[in-house]
Amino acid sequence: FPAAASPLLANLNPEQLAAVTLPVGNALILAGAGSGKTRVLTTRIAWLMQTGQVSPGGILAVTFTNKAAKEMMTRLTAMLPVNVRGMWIGTFHGLCNRLLRAHWKLAHLPSTFQILDTQDQLSAIKRLMKQYNVDDERFPAKQTQWFIAGAKEDGLRPRDVEVRSDDDRKKVELYQLYEEQCQREGVVDFGELMLRSYELLRDNDAVREHYQRRFRHIMIDEFQDTNRLQYAWIKMLSGRTAEGRFEPSGHNSVIAVGDDDQSIYAFRGARVGNMADFVREFDVQRQIKLEQNYRSFGNILDSANALISNNTKRLGKSLRTEQGPGEPVRVYESTSDFAEAQWMVEEMRQLAREGIDRKEMAVLYRSNAQSRVIETALFNAAVPYRVYGGLRFFERAEIKHALAYLRLLENKDDDTSFLRVVNFPPRGIGARSIEQLQDAARAAGHSLHDAVSAVGGKAGANLSAFVAKIDVLREQTVGISLREIIELVLDHSGLIEHYKADREGADRIENLEELVNAAESFVTQEGFGRDAVALPVDELRQSPASQGLDPSLPVIDEPLAPDAETGETLSPLAAFLTHAALESGDNQAQAGQDAVQLMTVHAAKGLEFDCVFITGMEEGLFPHENSMSDFDGLEEERRLMYVAITRARQRLYMSHSQTRMLHGQTRYNLKSRFYDELPEGALKWLTPKNQGFAPSAFGYGGGYATSRGAGGGYSKDSFASPPVPPQKAAPSHGLRSGMQVFHNKFGEGTVVSLEGSGDDARAQINFPRHGVKWLALSVAKLTPV
Ligand code: ATP
Ligand code: MG
Repeated sequence: FPAAASPLLANLNPEQLAAVTLPVGNALILAGAGSGKTRVLTTRIAWLMQTGQVSPGGILAVTFTNKAAKEMMTRLTAMLPVNVRGMWIGTFHGLCNRLLRAHWKLAHLPSTFQILDTQDQLSAIKRLMKQYNVDDERFPAKQTQWFIAGAKEDGLRPRDVEVRSDDDRKKVELYQLYEEQCQREGVVDFGELMLRSYELLRDNDAVREHYQRRFRHIMIDEFQDTNRLQYAWIKMLSGRTAEGRFEPSGHNSVIAVGDDDQSIYAFRGARVGNMADFVREFDVQRQIKLEQNYRSFGNILDSANALISNNTKRLGKSLRTEQGPGEPVRVYESTSDFAEAQWMVEEMRQLAREGIDRKEMAVLYRSNAQSRVIETALFNAAVPYRVYGGLRFFERAEIKHALAYLRLLENKDDDTSFLRVVNFPPRGIGARSIEQLQDAARAAGHSLHDAVSAVGGKAGANLSAFVAKIDVLREQTVGISLREIIELVLDHSGLIEHYKADREGADRIENLEELVNAAESFVTQEGFGRDAVALPVDELRQSPASQGLDPSLPVIDEPLAPDAETGETLSPLAAFLTHAALESGDNQAQAGQDAVQLMTVHAAKGLEFDCVFITGMEEGLFPHENSMSDFDGLEEERRLMYVAITRARQRLYMSHSQTRMLHGQTRYNLKSRFYDELPEGALKWLTPKNQGFAPSAFGYGGGYATSRGAGGGYSKDSFASPPVPPQKAAPSHGLRSGMQVFHNKFGEGTVVSLEGSGDDARAQINFPRHGVKWLALSVAKLTPV
């Protein structure tokens, strides 16, 4: 494949070119921030497809966030006319969800399983601990949650956990009970998504070999932050067995991309050691280093390099730029956190006057608690902003309440949702009655929903009324659109009415209305499989790269693939609920608005902005007090600082404050030790460097030069052309609502409603003997009767 032949390769440097056009085989790309790692991965995918080496279905690419996955898809569609929805690009969680949806039976899950987010997981654990009278002083629920998540990240089921003390035994017992509870309720937490799909592959030879044959090219971005289980999952898919054998079906190429200096999730089980293991266990012959940074100007890069050189545990890389020094890194000291925020707002106004978009300004902080003061200042100054990774849209209380009603419609046995709304809005069901109900349910082995008749008296009547309400709602949702379902639930649950009576409920009502919009855009844009170009299913089967695929297994090219045998598929509601659990929902609030971006440093990984503010540069905050005392902790904080600095393209600010309110206390922090590790020549102090305490806030140095540096140009991507618009096919199934049809497994039924077109057409059908089902018409065999 001559390099010059493809315009895709035109702007790459020689090392990048080598990485993009690597021959089949395993490789590690180890390179510093902003050196084009992610760009290389994306370009490689496009190049492999363009040169016919792989079909879209043969690629598996793992990114770290949903945002990164979307970004990759946008860039791909700009490079090539391809249906990215058929491709397996996503986060570990997203991809695992897809596997489990496709093979739920083999994974021992109900087809409608729902996902528990961390909040729900905690409340499920609390509930369990209360039920079994576990002392929550001795075993705080959060710790139990941590323990369970940690075990799962290491791939351990309760029976596999090593027990060294009585406390361990108790925790393992709780883990076991928790698992049983989740299984009974048909819910899985994030760790379970990963572990369950690992076990699915491990225990089912046919499934494993199928995917091993299918995914000829596996690519993982941000590899330094993978944990043990994720690494094992990759190994499994690529045909390396635990014993180091090679399975004949796995002869795919795995490319891992990472930066040891950006490993910032050790506290969550990430193992940099995976890199060395990968090189050894995958017999990696090619290691490529990228040393040119395309993102940042010299002063920013020098600061990053100098800082990280203080770490001892490094694999060793260097980074240079050809962009010239650019502007100095500006440092500001304020008297209070409030003044710090005030200064930032002023600075942003100035930047806006210079023509910088607000979405190109980011404020980064070490911990979420810092955002409140900044948000207040921005709000008061009427500067639009958006918070990432804080309380996500789908995690807000009112949204969770609405989702709980919706989840109960899908799965009456979801006790977590049941408990969330059984008395919300208040309907006179007290704690006593609920305990009674829980006891009855446990005794009978039923879900709470199914146990209400066991409670008598007034309480029982109220409970029965609640259950009746849910059941009636469920019946009413048959045949109506997702939007109508949500509106119906908001109305009939009493949620809207409840918040109307609340003086501060206006925002909440607005959010609930936003939920309707979220559902609407999920159906149209995200496409509940409807508007996307359907990837011809045969393409994959016939492509040379997939010879030997097991024909009895479904070829899953849609995230929500129908069951191969019956054509049964997720309802739009169930699909939306999955989306709500997996997506951050960041796009919902203020979508598309030109807003300042607020996020933690952790959440900023992989992103870039023209202007970056790193706030709270204080001892105890950054580095964080929890990690200052031990050596490894401090090195991780330094890597985090390295990530923060390297997000900036043009301009970087750092600030600290003499006093700060945190968790209700005023703190007097010293300025961060990290300042001392930066090259003095790259910095410009806007306030006197060693001023110590001063009663009044200092003015900031307005009116400084605003040159964009020697190169003058922004180093933005040239991949910004709009995505290829999806095409629509005409309906061809000939079904109409009200028609009687016959399905060879479910028997006779009535068509209730129809959605989508072409290969994506789906019908909701009421089968008297099997209930209401959604079927994909390209798969389900239906004959009119
Ligand atoms: P991080 O470690 O932060 O994830 P990265 O190594 O993944 O960074 P990218 O995000 O891929 O880096 O690239 C950084 C920036 O440099 C992007 O804006 C990218 O488009 C640009 N870039 C990369 N390579 C080149 C190149 N050869 N020519 C011009 N711009 C480039
Ligand atoms: Mg990257």
